[in-house]
Amino acid sequence: MDISLWLIAAVSLTWFMSYSRVSLSSFTFIFIILMAVGTVFNVIGFISWLLFAIIALPLNLDNIRQQFISMPLLALFKKIMPQMSETEQQAIDAGTTWFDAELFRGNPDWKKLHNYPQPRLSAQEKTFLDGPVEELCSMVDDWQTTHKMADLSPDVWQFLKDNKFFAMIIKKQYGGLEFSAFAQSRVLQKLTGVSSVLASTVGVPNSLGPGELLQEYGTRSQQDYYLPRLAKGEEIPCFALTSPEAGSDAGSIPDTGIICRQTFEGKEILGIKLNWDKRYITLAPVATVLGLAFKLEDPDNLIGDKKELGITCALIPTNIEGITIGRRHFPLNIPFQNGPTQGKDVFVPIDYIIGGKEMAGQGWRMLVECLSVGRAITLPSNSAGGIKTIALATGAYSRIRRQFKLPIGKMEGIEEALARIGGNAYLMDAVTIMSTGAIDLGEKPSVISAIAKYHLTEKMRSSIIDAMDIHGGKGICMGPSNYLARGYQGAPIAITVEGANILTRSLIIYGQGAIRCHPYVLAELQAAIETDPEQALNDFDHALFGHIGFSISNISRSLWCSVTGSHSLSAPFNDKTKRYYQLLTRFSANLAMLSDIAMLALGSDLKRKERISARLGDILSNLYLASACLKRFNDEGRQTEDLPLLQWAVEDCLFNTQQAIDALLSNFPNKWLARILRVIIFPVGTWLTKPSDNLDHKVAQLLQTPCEARNRLGKWQYLVRDGKNVFGILEETLEDIIACEPVFTKVCIATDKKLPFYQLDKVAGLGLSVNAITEKEAQLLIKAEQGRKAVIDVDDFDSNELIAPNLLQK
Ligand SMILES: Cc1cc2nc3c(=O)[nH]c(=O)nc-3n(C[C@H](O)[C@H](O)[C@H](O)COP(=O)(O)OP(=O)(O)OC[C@H]3O[C@@H](n4cnc5c(N)ncnc54)[C@H](O)[C@@H]3O)c2cc1C
Repeated sequence: MDISLWLIAAVSLTWFMSYSRVSLSSFTFIFIILMAVGTVFNVIGFISWLLFAIIALPLNLDNIRQQFISMPLLALFKKIMPQMSETEQQAIDAGTTWFDAELFRGNPDWKKLHNYPQPRLSAQEKTFLDGPVEELCSMVDDWQTTHKMADLSPDVWQFLKDNKFFAMIIKKQYGGLEFSAFAQSRVLQKLTGVSSVLASTVGVPNSLGPGELLQEYGTRSQQDYYLPRLAKGEEIPCFALTSPEAGSDAGSIPDTGIICRQTFEGKEILGIKLNWDKRYITLAPVATVLGLAFKLEDPDNLIGDKKELGITCALIPTNIEGITIGRRHFPLNIPFQNGPTQGKDVFVPIDYIIGGKEMAGQGWRMLVECLSVGRAITLPSNSAGGIKTIALATGAYSRIRRQFKLPIGKMEGIEEALARIGGNAYLMDAVTIMSTGAIDLGEKPSVISAIAKYHLTEKMRSSIIDAMDIHGGKGICMGPSNYLARGYQGAPIAITVEGANILTRSLIIYGQGAIRCHPYVLAELQAAIETDPEQALNDFDHALFGHIGFSISNISRSLWCSVTGSHSLSAPFNDKTKRYYQLLTRFSANLAMLSDIAMLALGSDLKRKERISARLGDILSNLYLASACLKRFNDEGRQTEDLPLLQWAVEDCLFNTQQAIDALLSNFPNKWLARILRVIIFPVGTWLTKPSDNLDHKVAQLLQTPCEARNRLGKWQYLVRDGKNVFGILEETLEDIIACEPVFTKVCIATDKKLPFYQLDKVAGLGLSVNAITEKEAQLLIKAEQGRKAVIDVDDFDSNELIAPNLLQK
C-alpha cells in the first residue's frame, strides 16, 4: 500500500466519523485499526505510533484529560465567561426548548417534526368558535368602536364577560373555559379579522396577567377568591410592569414596595408600602384588580435576613386609597383600554403578593416563565388572523377592481405584492398552529415564542403595507367601509409590546436560543458556576469534549453539504418538498457551525455584537418558520392545490436564511475566518433566489380564485355573508363577478361593442333588450354591480362629522 492511499483512507475515515458524530473512544479504536493496517503495509512506523499515542492517550484517559486539558480550560472559561445579571439568568432558565433545539443541532430529525400531533379543537371549543365568537363578531362595528366611541360598546363588554371571553385560560374548576392554546389562537384570529380593539381586549387578560400568574403561582386562597371572579368577568385585570424609566429594560423598574407594619382596615398588620408610576398598561383604565411588579425591600428584616428581595408581583384592588388610575393613552387610533397608573404610599397586606410571602422576590422568574407561553399565542395569533382575512379580502378586491380594462390582480406588479401577502398568510398560520401545538404538548417554548412574536408581527406589518398599496385610495380614505386602515395604523403596536422587536431580534432570539438550544453551551455555563470543584470539572469535561466533537461534526457536515450540493441528504418525502428538507438540513449544519465559531471568536463580545447575534437569530428563525410550513402541509394532507403557497413560504425562508448567512459573513469581525467560512458554506457563491415570478403568479391567482386552497387559507375567519360584514360582501362579490364575466362577454358579442366592465346593471338591460341573456343572467349582472360598487366605494363625510367635539373643548 502506498502512503498516499493510506492518507486518503485516514482523511476519509476521519471525515466520515466526525460527520457521523462517533464517540471519542470509537474514533480512537477505529484509528488504531487503521494504524495497524498501515503498519502491516509498512506505511506507518514507530514515530507515527508515538505521535498517535501522544495525542490519543491524554484524550482517552479521563484523569489525564481532565487535569491537563479540561481544568486549565475551565479556569480560562470562568474568566472569559460573559457576566450575567440575575434577571438575564432567570430569563435564560425560563421555559423549555422544542423543535428549535433540533434545528440548532445541525441535523434535524424531520420524522420527529411530523410525528408531533396536529393540534385539534375539542367539541366545546368548536362550539364556542361557531357560536359566541361568531355572534360577537357580528356585534362589533369597528368604525363605531375606533372613531365614534373610542371603546367597545357596553353591549359588547357585557357579552365578553357573560360568555367568559376573559377566562379562556382559567381552569374549569374555577368556572373558566380552560381552552387549549390552539383554541385560544383560533378565537383571537377570528376576532382580530373584525377588530383590533376587540382582539387586544380579549387577548391581554388571557395572556400574561393576573389570571395566568394566579393559576401558576397563586396561593390556594388567592386562587379560590380571584379566579372565579375573573372567570365571571366580575373582576377586570391588568398587569403593570412598564414604567416611564423602564421600558425594554423592565428589570430596572424604579417602583418600590417596602415591608413594614401599618394599620389596614382598622388592624395593625405586616404589609407593603407601595409607590409606583406605570404607563402603557392595557385595561388599566377599566381594571378592578391591578397586577403590579415592583422591587421589594425589607429594610427592617421583617420577613427574613435579605434587605433587597428583588422584583415581586402583587395583586392590588384598584379602589384602595392612594391609587390613581383611569386616564387613557391613545395608541395609534386603536382605542383599546390602555393607560397610566400611579400609587403613592399605598399600603397592602403582605399576602397580596402573588403566591404569598414565599414568592417575595420571585416576580421576574414568574413573568419570564409566563411570557414564554403568552408571547407565542396572543400577538402571533392576532397578526396571523389579521393577515389571513386581509389576504382573502385583497385577493377578492384585486379580482373585482379593474383599471386599464383588466382586473388589477392580473397585473404583474400587483401579483408580486399579492404573492407576498398570500405566502406570508400561509406561513403565519402555520407558525401559530405549530407553536400553540407545542404549548398544548406541555412546552413553555421561550425561544419559539420570541421567534413567533418577532417574525409574525413583522410579516403582519409588511403584508398590511402591501395590502394598502394594492387598494390604493380605497385603503386610505377612512370610514366604515375601510377594512384596512386601522390594521395599518395599529401595526406598530404589536411590534412594540411584549418585547419591542429590535430588542427581540437583536438580543432575545439568538441570546436565549444559543444558550438554550445548543446541546452543550448551557452545560458548560452551569459547570462554570458549580461550586463543587470535582463536579464542576466532571461536568465541564463532559460538555467540552461533547462540544468539540459537535463542532467538528458540523464543519464536516457543512463541507459535505457544499461539495455535494446537499443532494445526498435524506428527506422524509420524495416529492417537490424533498429539496426543501435537504436545504434546511444544510443550513442547520451551517447554523451550528457558525454559532460555535462566533462564540469561540467573539467570546463575551458576542452579546454586544447585536447585529451578528441578530443574523444568527434570523437563520434559526427562518429554519423554524419553514419547518412550520412543511409540517402544516403534511398535516393538511399534502394537498397539491396548496403547493404554491407552501413553495412560496419555504423558498422565501430559504432565501432569507441564505441572505442572513451572507450578511453575517460579510460583517464578521475576523475577516480571515469569514473567508474560510465562506469557502465552506458558499464555495460557488450564493445561489438561492426569492420566489420566482411564476410562483408569485400562481399564489396571486390562488388568492383571486375561489377554491379549496383559498378556503383553507381563510379557515376559521369571520367571512359570514349577512350583507353587513364587509369581508362576506367581498367573498360574495368575487364569486358574482367571476360568474357574470361570461354573461358580460355574451352581451359584448351580441351588441358588437367593447363595453366597459362597469354599470353592469345597464349591461344587463342592454343584454335583455337584444335577447342575448336570460332574466337570471341579467339578475346576476345587477347583483354583481351592487357588490362591485359596495367594494370599490369609499366613505365621505360632512365636515362636522369629522370633528371630535370632546377634544375640541380641551
Ligand atoms: C399599546 C401598548 C400596550 C402595552 N401594554 C402593556 C401592559 O399591559 N403592561 C405593561 O407592563 N407594559 C405594557 N406595554 C409596554 C411595552 O411592553 C413597552 O412599551 C415595551 O416593552 C418597550 O418599552 P418602551 O416603549 O419604553 O421602549 P424603549 O425601551 O424605550 O425602547 C426603544 C427602542 O429601543 C430598542 N431597544 C431597547 N433596548 C435594546 C437593546 N438592548 N438592543 C437593541 N434595541 C434595544 C427597542 O427595541 C425599541 O425599539 C405596552 C406598550 C404599549 C405601547
